[in-house]
Amino acid sequence: MSNIDENAQGKEMGLTTCPSCNKLNEQKQTHCTRCDSPLMVRDTTSLQKSWALLITAAILLIPANIYPITMLTDRGRIRHDTIFTGITHLVQSDMFPIAIILFTASILVPLLKIVGLTIYLTAISFRLPISKKMLMVGFHIIEWIGRWSMLDLFVISITVALVNMGQLLDAKPAPAATAFALVILLTQMAAKVLDTRLLWDRLESKDDKNRSTKSR
Ligand SMILES: [Zn+2]
Repeated sequence: MSNIDENAQGKEMGLTTCPSCNKLNEQKQTHCTRCDSPLMVRDTTSLQKSWALLITAAILLIPANIYPITMLTDRGRIRHDTIFTGITHLVQSDMFPIAIILFTASILVPLLKIVGLTIYLTAISFRLPISKKMLMVGFHIIEWIGRWSMLDLFVISITVALVNMGQLLDAKPAPAATAFALVILLTQMAAKVLDTRLLWDRLESKDDKNRSTKSR
């Protein structure tokens, strides 16, 4: 074992993992020997796909915040609320905990996800001189934020339940709801399509100042 470089990647050893079942396959194979999924040593087009999805999500964030997201019918009067007016309305009604959850789920989480992914993709695409440690932290933050995506659905169901049951109003989603749902979907997809092995390549590349030199 002593002659094996501890930083070596499967790519250098002629091995690659299956994207579906994670089985180690030899690079000469075109399809996984276990589940028959197509194998790719590195999906370099994944960077472009990820950028395209991310930029679309960032653009859709504008209509999601400008246009009304809910339409309330209160005794014949129709009231439109954007994400922002919805939150201020909750604050004015002394519903702080729900206002905080709504702010986190509909403004903070999508924004952090887009900013985080942008930094991450920029670092890989333009080989920014960001330290290995920073990139690793960023990667884990994006993964961690991704787990909170279901919070949006939770908030929407709670809001609708509160409005429909408590105040006897009729709440319906308005145009921005579609844009908002697309933002969530597209940021999830942008993170999903990216081949994270490209980051490990970047971290282990020879021109990286942070590469450990003890083994060569
Ligand atoms: Zn497989």
